[in-house]
Amino acid sequence: MTAESVTTPSPALGAEYAETASAAYAAALKVIESVEPRIADATRQELADQRDSLKLIASENYASPAVLLTMGTWFSDKYAEGTIGHRFYAACQNVDTVEALAAEHARELFGAPYAYAQPHSGIDANLVAYWAILNTRIEAPGLAELGVKNVNDLSEADWEQLRTKMGNQRLMGMSLDTGGHLTHGFRPNISGKMFHQRSYGTDPETGLLDYAKIAEAAREFKPLILVAGYSAYPRRVNFAKMREIADEVGATFMVDMAHFAGLVAGKVFTGDEDPVPHAHVTTTTTHKSLRGPRGGLVLATEEYSGAVDKGCPMVLGGPLSHVMAAKAVALAEARQPSFREYAQRIADNAKALADGFLSRGARLVTGGTDNHIVLLDVTSFGLTGRQAESALLDAGVVTNRNSIPADPNGAWYTSGIRFGTPALTTRGFGADDFDRVAELVVEVLKNTQPDGTSKAKYTVADGTAERVHAASAELLSANPLYPGLML
Ligand code: PLP
Repeated sequence: MTAESVTTPSPALGAEYAETASAAYAAALKVIESVEPRIADATRQELADQRDSLKLIASENYASPAVLLTMGTWFSDKYAEGTIGHRFYAACQNVDTVEALAAEHARELFGAPYAYAQPHSGIDANLVAYWAILNTRIEAPGLAELGVKNVNDLSEADWEQLRTKMGNQRLMGMSLDTGGHLTHGFRPNISGKMFHQRSYGTDPETGLLDYAKIAEAAREFKPLILVAGYSAYPRRVNFAKMREIADEVGATFMVDMAHFAGLVAGKVFTGDEDPVPHAHVTTTTTHKSLRGPRGGLVLATEEYSGAVDKGCPMVLGGPLSHVMAAKAVALAEARQPSFREYAQRIADNAKALADGFLSRGARLVTGGTDNHIVLLDVTSFGLTGRQAESALLDAGVVTNRNSIPADPNGAWYTSGIRFGTPALTTRGFGADDFDRVAELVVEVLKNTQPDGTSKAKYTVADGTAERVHAASAELLSANPLYPGLML
């Protein structure tokens, strides 16, 4: 199968499949209803809520009916621990087919020598990557010294020795408060416990990554693994420079592109901004800007491929074969030319949203964006992130609060709101629509007052939520979700 032969419609333009998809979902809900009607009701309600809200959560999207329908099959019932062609269960020939297709599409789409489609989520993908790097760089000599060839031959005492050996390995990633992810060495996460960790941040003045400072810190700390990638940094990263730093200090360079994989797939990020040719190991989720099912992927160079392929049994159990099938469908969609247009629109729309905020006097972390994220500092409205998030939600604007660098309100209440454009871009929103979104957000925040008794409480001027609801309803009905899907 070639990418060109895939005729799946984009979720925003699915009208020609609407009748078939409507019938499929109506039938599915009827079957569900016969067992537990409350689940059928909740499922219908979730669609209604998603249709009726301005979804601006940067890590969310709307997968196509083809991707969603692929997950509801009997592949869910199959155990397939192991790797393609080498399973610990019988009768895995069809799982082999779907896993091989998911991996093939991922390799072709991202230009990677090797792809592993089994991780259940982004966190799993990162754990697989860390253990694969440790296995490649640390455990192999450790095992040889212990006189064993295979982890399965290790005794409890051998494991004890290995743990001690591995205990001081060093990981360096972007700090959580400047936009990194908790799996990049945050103390309460297993990544911060497995490794001796140090994080790099952004420049306090500009909010941007300072590669000279990262290099200086890496020279001093000498990490085994240097991680790049983020959840809340509104700018592009120069992965070529990061690789140079990794090479200089002998680190393995890992990139977690969970957030921006869609922009890589859609060739918005190319050259130094495309992580895949520069990283030894690249991980991602498949459900954010990539617009696939919830899940993870690991891409690797030949050197690391053997170790990544042992994600099961090292970190994972049985793969979610129904989700791997859906990954194959989503990756096939992402290989179509229309996905490149979609990815470019994500970035153009983020710029329009940022410009819309700036022209109305709001302050943005880094002063703007050049990816899919806009990080608004709500202290200029006298609010905490928590107050702003709740006031926006009351008006039907779904966002999430987020720390800003050196956040005066800490990680729980925060001082920022993170916006992302992938979901509404899927619905068909354009630059003018995003300017209007900025106007509506500013209207809500200007009309919200902190209550003064707590960092969570607030009051909103009468009529604000109603006005914003009505205005956003116009935007949403002009850009319907799953057009023609009669549910
Ligand atoms: N990596 C990054 C950069 C993320 O932003 C996230 C999720 O927000 C993850 C990993 C974890 O993904 P998951 O929620 O699928 O485990």
